[in-house]
Amino acid sequence: MDPVTVVGAGPVGLGLALSLARYEVPVVVLDERPADDADLADRRLARTAVLRPDTVAGLERLGCTTAEGARWSGWRTMRRRTPVTQVPFGEPHPGKEPDEVPPDGDPLEATAPDVAPGGPSPLHLPQHALVRELRAALADRDDVRIVHGSRVTVLQQDADGITLHTRGENGSAWRAGYLVGCDGPRSVVRKLLGTRFPGRTAVERYAVAALRTELPWPGEAVLQRSPLRGAEVTARPLPDGVWRLDWLLPPDGGLVTPEDLIGHIHDTLGAWCGDVPRYELLDTGVYAVHHRLARRWRSGRAFLAGDAAHLLGALGTQGLDEGLRDAGNLAWKLAQAWHHGASEALLDSYEAERREAVGARLRAADRALPAVRGAGGWRTVRRTVVPGSARSHDALLTDAHLGRGGPWASRRCTTVRPSPRRRRRPVRCRWARRSGRPWRTCRSRRRTGRRSRWATGWTGRSWSCWSPPAPGYGSGGTGWARG
Ligand SMILES: Cc1cc2nc3c(=O)[nH]c(=O)nc-3n(C[C@H](O)[C@H](O)[C@H](O)COP(=O)(O)OP(=O)(O)OC[C@H]3O[C@@H](n4cnc5c(N)ncnc54)[C@H](O)[C@@H]3O)c2cc1C
Repeated sequence: MDPVTVVGAGPVGLGLALSLARYEVPVVVLDERPADDADLADRRLARTAVLRPDTVAGLERLGCTTAEGARWSGWRTMRRRTPVTQVPFGEPHPGKEPDEVPPDGDPLEATAPDVAPGGPSPLHLPQHALVRELRAALADRDDVRIVHGSRVTVLQQDADGITLHTRGENGSAWRAGYLVGCDGPRSVVRKLLGTRFPGRTAVERYAVAALRTELPWPGEAVLQRSPLRGAEVTARPLPDGVWRLDWLLPPDGGLVTPEDLIGHIHDTLGAWCGDVPRYELLDTGVYAVHHRLARRWRSGRAFLAGDAAHLLGALGTQGLDEGLRDAGNLAWKLAQAWHHGASEALLDSYEAERREAVGARLRAADRALPAVRGAGGWRTVRRTVVPGSARSHDALLTDAHLGRGGPWASRRCTTVRPSPRRRRRPVRCRWARRSGRPWRTCRSRRRTGRRSRWATGWTGRSWSCWSPPAPGYGSGGTGWARG
């Protein structure tokens, strides 16, 4: 079979190529940027990512070192100058191996090791450092070829594969057994497949600065709500005394001038340190967070992953972490199909699992945004009258930034047991065997009346996953469960 072709040599495309190489699948990575330009354009310290511990463990198992990232000693949430939450992080137990990778699983999907009580710290690293490490890990792989200067412009599918045409200094025609579009938010692959990308533009905007200085909480990440200026500011440490600071901007979409940004820096550092300490400004930017989810993540032999498939980031959720999880989920399924022939159900499960997980995060953010960011009289009344609501918003924001818990946790499929204490709504489920494993697809019975942006034509909840069959249904059939 022809190699798997990955379009886009960003972190998700390279992560996927590395994962596929581990399964001895030949990969061609096409990227529109020339090699030297790709190096230069990526070197931005204000473009960083926070990766959950299990994502990091998966990368390390693939041979990608993450030494250029910072692990935090804790997370601190403050309202004005008062600390309201403090989450200390532990180190993974030395000598204790991460949980075993399931036999047909991918290291990027494996679970994290047991850790000290505060939980393991996420890893905060500049995106260019991650890309460089991924490239270094791929450098000695003969089965991966990265072709820069190749912009994909035409895509044709047939029964045996996909033909691609590229423009640029290495323009040519390519043949692929499978194709994965990791070509970012303006994905050409997505457009060529005719896949819609509905959602919202500029849900939130942040002014971002990377600077080297000393703050009163060395090694600790800080979220301050209602600071002196603006609504919210976060400070997240990177190695070598560098910090990334993000200021939530007002929703009116006004211009952020360099003077505004310097004003933000001085006000924030002055309030935190008493006096504005010496600092070295390394990079600045304005980061607009969009919320979008591609309608289909699979079209025949072509798939979408990373920013090409989803955009998220409001309230601190991390899109790049989800992109690397897409890569982990898809790699072993493509490898199975490449080596042993296509199993439609297995390939379909990529969209079912990952689209649902990202959709759940987007739905959670959509639900939480009006309450957390809403302004005006009702908010003030509720804060005064309903004690704890502000506290719960702080906890929610902390969880969102750390990618864990609460409404941010993606739906997991478990054996459904009726709860004796709380009557849950019945959901209609279909059980079937796919690739020899029991597979469950459930749909909420209730139509909400409000069309959900993230559902495909269905207004209720819908999810599919591997799961033990319900008692009485054997390996197939339809029935009701409580969900
Ligand atoms: C200032 C800033 C701050 C950010 N902060 C965060 C953060 O804190 N957390 C977070 O998770 N995310 C953050 N992001 C977003 C993050 O950078 C993206 O989520 C991430 O880059 C997505 O990776 P990707 O591999 O999917 O796509 P990209 O990194 O966009 O890579 C796409 C690649 O595809 C190539 N390409 C595009 N079209 C074609 C084509 N037709 N043919 C061939 N190649 C093509 C491009 O050259 C590029 O190399 C931030 C972004 C910015 C700008």
